[in-house]
Amino acid sequence: MSLDTAIRAIQSELDLTVDGRPGPDTWGAIHLAIVGKKAATDAGLDAIIRAVQTKLGVFVDGSAGPETWGAIHLAIVGGKAPKDIKKMDTPTLAGEGKTADSRSEGNIATLHPLVRPFARALIEKAAGQGIIIKVTSGTRSFAEQDDLYAQGRTKPGRIVTNVRGGYSNHNFGIAFDVTIFNGSSDPEKAKTPVFESSLYKVVGALGTEVGLEWGGNWKTIVDEPHFQLRPGWASDMSESKMLADLRQRKAAGEDYYA
Ligand SMILES: [Zn+2]
Repeated sequence: MSLDTAIRAIQSELDLTVDGRPGPDTWGAIHLAIVGKKAATDAGLDAIIRAVQTKLGVFVDGSAGPETWGAIHLAIVGGKAPKDIKKMDTPTLAGEGKTADSRSEGNIATLHPLVRPFARALIEKAAGQGIIIKVTSGTRSFAEQDDLYAQGRTKPGRIVTNVRGGYSNHNFGIAFDVTIFNGSSDPEKAKTPVFESSLYKVVGALGTEVGLEWGGNWKTIVDEPHFQLRPGWASDMSESKMLADLRQRKAAGEDYYA
């Protein structure tokens, strides 16, 4: 789904049939846009994809995964030249002691210790693509979630959530939301939030690359700013079953990732 939306955006930008399925027409147009010339008429899809990957400086294997689609999206929809993408090194996972901007760190501190390096890695990876993101929401207590649920119902304001305390991934330290910021290349000085941007799909692809689950892939409520680290035991579980188990673990004082 993340790829589906990214591919659709690319197809739309290239004036192709927007169906989320990259066939020969789509790859031909991508080759033309990225490599700068038409692919040879006898070139197979594998060769076309390899040429595009080589030009973009991503891993060349003739099959397009999130990294390749992220780079194509950045070049075609994001308007960055392939050489700019190629210059960017893929950042390594941020370890202990390496920190993000102060606003992000304030929210990262509320996350499960296991999730924190993933959040920092996502910030780093996005920065490597020239996108400043900050973690703008981390963990909410059950009481805070109940308070939020009351908003627009028994309290003034607009409705911002459909779930009560204990029914949000944000109640267990496994989930966080990001916002893209503009205004400066220095994350501390970039203070202009950007809520609508096709770049959220690029960030989503980067998140799945580091092993996070991206809310933009959800089928019921698409939530592009949302990322979570799904515990291994919940890999095949529905969201509601996972949350029920998390509530039990919390009540029993058990670790969520054990
Ligand atoms: Zn969220």
